[in-house]
Amino acid sequence: ANGTPPSFSARKDKLLHGLLAAEFDEKSCLSRYHSILYRKESPHLPSSYLLEKLRKYESLHKKCAPNTELYKKAVEQLKSGRGSQSTECNYVVWISYSGLGNRMLSIASTFLYALLTNRVLLIDSGSDMADLFCEPFPESSWILPSDFPVNEFTKFDIKTRTSYGNMVKDKAISNHVDSGSTQSPPAYIYLHLSHDYDDYDKLFFCEDDQKVLQNVPWLLLRSNNYFIPSLFLIPTYDVELRNLFPVKDTVFHHLGRYLFHPTNSVWGLISRYYQSYLAKADERVGMQVRVFEEGAGPFQYVLDQILACSLKEKLLPDLNSQEAVVLTPNARSIALLLTSLESGYYEKIRNMYWEHPTATGEIISVHQPSYEGFQQTEKQTHNMKALAEIYLLSLTDMLVTSAWSTFGYVAQGLGGLQPWILLKPENQTTPDPPCRRAMSIEPCFHAPPLFDCKAKVGADTGALVPHVRHCEDMSWGLKLV
Ligand code: GDP
Repeated sequence: ANGTPPSFSARKDKLLHGLLAAEFDEKSCLSRYHSILYRKESPHLPSSYLLEKLRKYESLHKKCAPNTELYKKAVEQLKSGRGSQSTECNYVVWISYSGLGNRMLSIASTFLYALLTNRVLLIDSGSDMADLFCEPFPESSWILPSDFPVNEFTKFDIKTRTSYGNMVKDKAISNHVDSGSTQSPPAYIYLHLSHDYDDYDKLFFCEDDQKVLQNVPWLLLRSNNYFIPSLFLIPTYDVELRNLFPVKDTVFHHLGRYLFHPTNSVWGLISRYYQSYLAKADERVGMQVRVFEEGAGPFQYVLDQILACSLKEKLLPDLNSQEAVVLTPNARSIALLLTSLESGYYEKIRNMYWEHPTATGEIISVHQPSYEGFQQTEKQTHNMKALAEIYLLSLTDMLVTSAWSTFGYVAQGLGGLQPWILLKPENQTTPDPPCRRAMSIEPCFHAPPLFDCKAKVGADTGALVPHVRHCEDMSWGLKLV
């Protein structure tokens, strides 16, 4: 198939089968309705229950959004220091943290938590997310106003006394709802759900503790993880999650496509690149190379791994050793989109396919949008390029990702692509096998709790239900399948 985007009229699913709200102004956020021109239609339909839930959420958000009377009332109550059991608007504030992939996964997780608990999701205004993403909810904002009264919450960490874990540890709050209690709940609680959290923080994933949190109007949540798989293990939310996601391994696919629409400037980076380098190829292969090794690359064992995987899984053709190949004018073309912080892998693979013909007679063009050298999360143009590259990877037909990387998880989830994962090399050696096909398109939760809430003992949370399993690339992680 030719990759040139078809016209709008040929595609009737502009709203992604009802996933997207229709109220938005198209020009202010071109990506929202134009991305379908660049993608194959998703085989995964959102459930009608999810669509209903999203429309209800949108009206709740509009009612409680910053600058509404109800928001002002809730902020006044926060200033007064105590919560109350009957507030119309309850909130969960996502605190910005970590690399872009981690952020997108934790925002999606926090949004699902907001849906499950009838809370309104607001995003820390210091996060610079406004330059990257359009507002996801119609006629309102998800950005927390900068005059929010809790100070310096971006510095919250595992030691913060107002965290749920520390309050339980200090006995400042009971982790059981006591019907006889007359004490009003605190006005806010900090939820520390980062990779370094302790067993007390992890009580968040227990049913009884969820009941306690229900009565707290403001939750401030900081996480760099995709914690959705563990929400599926909390009995309270079981029925609702089944209704929302009858097909369980499409949670991030739907929520990601609902929430994350690149701003027009990022969309420019994406659409120009796609049209220039990818659109005309017969096939697009995405390859995300994330090397966690210290020191300067490129490393030969990583290059060997990439090539071994690509050849074994027939993602790229082998070279022809006889060299006497006559190219037909209409040779089939494959565009390889490689993303990496460094340029070495790209240069080697590009030269390889320039210097030698392929055994199949196919033409391979190799493209890498940027070589940023190292992670620079504070820099806006760096993050814009990172988002553009994640998005471009999600537009390919076949995808190779790197183990442990949330950058790749987001691309696979948005694209609905079941990637081949380059397994993590140990001792600077190419792993055998070099890669493994993922079980599902879902991201991996890297730091799940591993205990049984009821029995209060350690438990293998990857063996409790068939749809929550350990990940292919991280043995203690959890993912939906
Ligand atoms: P993870 O660390 O691989 O889980 O992914 P994150 O996205 O959370 O953090 C890595 C960050 O490093 C990204 O957000 C980018 O800022 C940067 N980065 C890593 N790989 C790439 C890449 O291939 N391209 C670009 N442009 N940036 C990258």
